[in-house]
Amino acid sequence: MRPRPRPWTAPALALLVTAAAVLPALPFRTGGPAEPAAAAGRGGTPHTEARHVVLAVHGGAGTALRRQDTDARTEKAYRDGLADALRAGQKILRGGGDSVAAVEAAVRVLEDDPLFNAGRGAVFTEDAGHELDASIMRGSDLAAGAVAGVRHVRNPVSAARLVMERTRHVMLAGEAADAFAARSGLTPVTQDYFWTQKRWDELMKAKNPRTTAAARDGSMTGTVGAVALDGRRGLAAATSTGGTTNKMAGRVGDSPVVGAGTYAKDGNVAVSATGQGEVFIRGAATATISHLVEFGGMDVAAAAHEVVMGRLPKLGGTGGVIALDAQGTYAAPHSSEGMLHGYATADGRIVTRVFPDEAAGRR
Ligand code: ASP
Repeated sequence: MRPRPRPWTAPALALLVTAAAVLPALPFRTGGPAEPAAAAGRGGTPHTEARHVVLAVHGGAGTALRRQDTDARTEKAYRDGLADALRAGQKILRGGGDSVAAVEAAVRVLEDDPLFNAGRGAVFTEDAGHELDASIMRGSDLAAGAVAGVRHVRNPVSAARLVMERTRHVMLAGEAADAFAARSGLTPVTQDYFWTQKRWDELMKAKNPRTTAAARDGSMTGTVGAVALDGRRGLAAATSTGGTTNKMAGRVGDSPVVGAGTYAKDGNVAVSATGQGEVFIRGAATATISHLVEFGGMDVAAAAHEVVMGRLPKLGGTGGVIALDAQGTYAAPHSSEGMLHGYATADGRIVTRVFPDEAAGRR
């Protein structure tokens, strides 16, 4: 006798079919051929990306390149952008320059590259303008500088460094920050300098009520940053961003906030963050990583993993960090689908990572 179907079988089957259809559309799924569950930086356990690192950069957690829809030219453009930034910082370090100069040089290259959401490639605000944020921190004395909401500075990271070195303040904002940068000799630019078709299309997409939340979130963010360790064991970090697409005018994210987007302390760690800024501020992301190393006895990979994969998701945010300790140990965890990043080692090797499934040592 054939067993009779139980009453719950049909609804359960319907649920399974619906889940199978919906799950692949979710933005942060794991598994699947394009993105193995063990993707570098995104696994369930802390992961040391590399050792003997002297400089690392990131190009944001918002731009996830997928192998299946990335042509060779696009891949090369992103790799070249990251590698050029690493070379610029590497040159400073090789010439005996300090980690502050190295992170500034690396971030400037990324700010000038329209591919990245900082400087030239900054995203649009909701009123179709551009407002840029940046910060820099020196690990030897915890000196820091930042600018928020600047509209006419070509290289906000350099303005942040000037705030650190030439004022008695940590952060300048808005028009006065623009004026300070111009007075200090930085190249002023008009808003149209930041206009790019790609960012305009993203703004239109964000404003279109038919755009799904997942598609919108996929192109909302991005940021650039760098961390460095110099010959005197000095650590520094810098972060620069156009913020989030369609953000309110006046919105300031985590990138210029010391302890949220950027942190560096000699003998400890240098960290630069990217992701949903509001959550990184609320979670004091980069300072917490530093404190977990200093007071919690964790190594850099464990501390960065704990914050990025454990604490920030509980606050509702995704993103990633690049983190470098005083021994040159480098970690780059991210809870977002991808994070563009790369590093240079003490022996001069330059490595870039643009796809989520790139495992350590593959390139
Ligand atoms: N953290 C940046 C911000 O919220 C954006 C990003 O990194 O993607 O402004």
